[in-house]
Amino acid sequence: MRIAKNDIVEVIAGNDRGKRGKVLKVFPETNLLLVEGVNFIHRHTRPRKQGEQGGIIEKEAPMNASNVLLVCTKCNRGVRVRTKVLTDKSKSRVCTQCGEMIERR
Ligand SMILES: [Zn+2]
Repeated sequence: MRIAKNDIVEVIAGNDRGKRGKVLKVFPETNLLLVEGVNFIHRHTRPRKQGEQGGIIEKEAPMNASNVLLVCTKCNRGVRVRTKVLTDKSKSRVCTQCGEMIERR
């Protein structure tokens, strides 16, 4: 997966298409991402303990990494990236549109 925690991504499929958010968590084994403010689910809860409030909880649900694109700050949109190996052998992600490096945060 080319997307890492704290990346800003743009959603390209589903109900939240066009939304942007920060990646809160990645699940590499399942290719899922948790993106801030995207893919809310409503969970109806009952008060379990005394003093606890029941009601509807809104919570982000993990979504498939193939539904998002990394946002290039230079292009200001979601773009495809390729991996470039730098001279010191470290890997960097490069925007396929403008060639700009997209740093990990
Ligand atoms: Zn770009």
